Amino acid sequence: MPRPLSPLTLRGRVMPASTLFQLFLVGAAIALLWLGIGLHLSQERRQFERAAWNNANGVSHGFNESVSRTIEALDQVMMMIRSLYRADRDHFDIRSMAPSDQVPRDLALQMAVTDAKGIMQGSNLGANAGLDLSDREHVRVHMNTPADVLFISKPVLGRVSGKWSIQFTRKLFDQNGAFSGVLVVSLNPAYFARFANGVDIGKGSITLIGMDGVVRVRAPDAPDSLGRVLDDTAMERFRTGPADGEYRHASPVDGIDRLLSYRRMADFPLIAVVGMAADDVFAPYWQDRDRYLLVGALLTVLVALIGAQLISQGMHLARSQRLLSATLDNIGQGVMMVDADGTVPVMNRRVAELLGLPEHLSREGVTFGAILDWQLKSNEFLPNHDGGYDVAALAQSGGLGPLQYERSRKNGVVLDVRTLPLDRGGAVRTYTDITLRKQNEAALEAARDAAESARRAQSDFLAVMSHEIRTPMNGVIGMAGLLIDSDLTQSQRSYASTLREAANSLMQIINDILDFSKLEAREVDLDHAPFDLLHVIRSVMDLMAVKALEKQLWLRMQVASGTPVHLTGDPGRMRQVLFNLVGNALKFTQEGGVTIEVDGKILSDTHATIHITVRDTGIGIPDAAMEHLFKQFYQVDGTSSRGYGGTGLGLAICQRLATRMDGRITVQSTPGIGSAFCFAAPMELDLSAPARKAEQSIAPAEREKAPRSTTRLRILLAEDNITNRLVAITRLEMLGHRVDQVANGVEALQMVQTAPYDLLLMDVMMPEMDGLQATRLIRGLPGPEHDIPIVAMTANVFHHHQEACRAAGMDDFMGKPFTPTQLERLLERTIAGTLRTRAPTSATARADLSNGEAAFATLVDALGREDALHVLKDFTGQARAQIAAMRHSHAAQAWPEISDSAVALHEAAGTLGLDLLAETAQRISHQPAGDQVPGLIDTLQNAVTETEKLVA
Ligand code: ADP
Repeated sequence: MPRPLSPLTLRGRVMPASTLFQLFLVGAAIALLWLGIGLHLSQERRQFERAAWNNANGVSHGFNESVSRTIEALDQVMMMIRSLYRADRDHFDIRSMAPSDQVPRDLALQMAVTDAKGIMQGSNLGANAGLDLSDREHVRVHMNTPADVLFISKPVLGRVSGKWSIQFTRKLFDQNGAFSGVLVVSLNPAYFARFANGVDIGKGSITLIGMDGVVRVRAPDAPDSLGRVLDDTAMERFRTGPADGEYRHASPVDGIDRLLSYRRMADFPLIAVVGMAADDVFAPYWQDRDRYLLVGALLTVLVALIGAQLISQGMHLARSQRLLSATLDNIGQGVMMVDADGTVPVMNRRVAELLGLPEHLSREGVTFGAILDWQLKSNEFLPNHDGGYDVAALAQSGGLGPLQYERSRKNGVVLDVRTLPLDRGGAVRTYTDITLRKQNEAALEAARDAAESARRAQSDFLAVMSHEIRTPMNGVIGMAGLLIDSDLTQSQRSYASTLREAANSLMQIINDILDFSKLEAREVDLDHAPFDLLHVIRSVMDLMAVKALEKQLWLRMQVASGTPVHLTGDPGRMRQVLFNLVGNALKFTQEGGVTIEVDGKILSDTHATIHITVRDTGIGIPDAAMEHLFKQFYQVDGTSSRGYGGTGLGLAICQRLATRMDGRITVQSTPGIGSAFCFAAPMELDLSAPARKAEQSIAPAEREKAPRSTTRLRILLAEDNITNRLVAITRLEMLGHRVDQVANGVEALQMVQTAPYDLLLMDVMMPEMDGLQATRLIRGLPGPEHDIPIVAMTANVFHHHQEACRAAGMDDFMGKPFTPTQLERLLERTIAGTLRTRAPTSATARADLSNGEAAFATLVDALGREDALHVLKDFTGQARAQIAAMRHSHAAQAWPEISDSAVALHEAAGTLGLDLLAETAQRISHQPAGDQVPGLIDTLQNAVTETEKLVA
């Protein structure tokens, strides 16, 4: 029968029914124990009592017999004496009567005869003749009554002898049969008491009482026991009761409590009473009783202890259960237990509340199936698939479902349902109301989205702003450069140089801000590429060498032996950090120099920690400034106002970059002595490289003293990566060239149109517009700038990338990172004019011919002359068809079709190595609606014609 859920009070210490029952059981066990002991003892007592009475009966019977026989024998003797007396009264001499065998002499005190008046005639003791005995009862009875009976007197204490005696008397008759006197035989009562000697009665007693209530005999003897008269109540039993019987009585003589047996004599008015002392009778019983009581007491204590233990455990258990129930009922979670057979033995109130169960299901003992049925019928399961799980389908199947899922009730409450399967089958299931949490999460997510979009908006704003500023700044720098190159007076040149320097540092600040805002917006993704640690550090030293030289400072590197060199990570960002630290060190040092200490420890097969400490002998940093150093825009003493320059962003950027690499930068400094900035970060080992560890070394910076080239080039550098840009600019400037910088293809496209550049060094991967696209657009420009030599700077050195660069119109490429020598060679090629070998885009047939001839020669080499001719003929046929299609599409302004034909032609020409054709077609494909298209189609036409001439 299901039990309704009821709140259990914690404080009311109600003794549970089970404990009361246990208490009752313990009490009953103890009571039974004592009942058993009591019954056994009373039975035993009765047995002892019975045995004692049996014993007393036996003895009293024996005593009765013995006394009867003795008196009968005595009476016979007396009858014989009487007949002797009667036969010859005159000669009868009592003195001649010897005591009989039955009556020993010492006990048969006296035999005497009196005359009819009671005067003693003589005795066997010879004395007292003439003594008047008529006043004695035992004589008077015969004188006064006619009956001829043996009279037994009360015990009499002899006046002379001082001894007790009992007189047995009989009438004497003369020859005529007339009463003539009394025969008196006196006997010591001890004679009868002798019987007691033969039986063991302990502290028992043997008593002979006359029907007159007078005690005749008593053993053991006791003062005042003989001749004592029993009261009427005592005598009542003997007189009116049965002939024999039992009773218990404390003796008034010696006070001993006895179990007594009496027996009335049939022939004499005497009662034999034998008593067994209760002390003797019950002594073994009492011993037993003590033993039983002890055992009983011990058992009682034991049972009580066990009971107490059980009860205390029971109460403890009950209390735990109460606490558990109270806890279950008071927690905010719904908890239910489902047995293997589907019943619910435990369910707290919260379950009913959370699931909205009706009363008949809100109780323990219901089945889980019944709850599911009700939920299904009440459309509790929305047709949603919360957590990817179809709760309704689960309910249909009647199972417990996955171990954890969330579902929304139709009243909007969201429940987190968890199931913990139990080893023995069944499960414990909890329901948690997560509505609030869900609402909070949603609110939080909305807030996060808002914050995220605000942050993104901020960084977008910064990016756009810095881009917007950078574009005109490039113009300023470029124009300043032009101005410097023009014919100027000394002071004009100085103004122009200052202008350019100011513009350059403004550019640096903008770049820093952009970098910082990207880091803040977490939009900086770190590279994961293999690199050589020492190369990175050397490249920084190379760049900084000029500055060191200018200030007459040393710049050197110390590498601890065992430092792993081949690592995987972001060398560009690492270079940027070091560049900053070394830059600062040189900036704030006037004497001495800067040492870069490199130390690395291998942590595991795959990882190492790298410590790079940049130690200078500069002005140092006061303690108070230390904690602020890595905050953005912080400068000690407003450094820039003291003429050091800078934005106060460098260290902030470095610290954030280090953090992104899971490392950090720490600083130690003593004002006036110097500072040491330590960059420490875990690094992955480059396992593909041959394991090389640095030997301990001290490397001075490579000091490039003077530009080697005498020709000064105007170079435009398009590179988005700040470090790469810094590296390239510094190197180029060291070689004596003038450099303007832009950060993407769009800016490059603008810049080449504002100033005449000798060379465009272009990164391939750039935001906004990549290098390939920018090149294509530059090559499509109408002015002379379309012919500018463009060199790709790319980390991708695979052949197909180089091909892509060439296809886009680039002249050369230089793998990143490049060495100063590679750069120098490249510039030499530029100066020598050998770099730009390709024809201008308004290509003449001659230029294409040379290209066509080379391609034809390659084809002949590869396929043989005949096949080569065949292939080229095929191609020119198709090319003409495609050119005709392009013209047609152009007239119809069908730009996508032009683009498709151009792409097809580009690919076919590219495959055959007909560069001019391929490139021109590609330019058309990129800008099918451009103004140059008709001219470019003409170029194609001419090139095809020239190619046809080759195969003619
Ligand atoms: P800044 O562009 O001003 O150099 P940084 O963030 O790189 O910005 O440095 C912040 C400030 O920390 C500097 O302005 C300078 O006061 C102090 N500082 C940095 N490096 C050193 C150094 N090696 N020695 C002394 N002061 C330094």
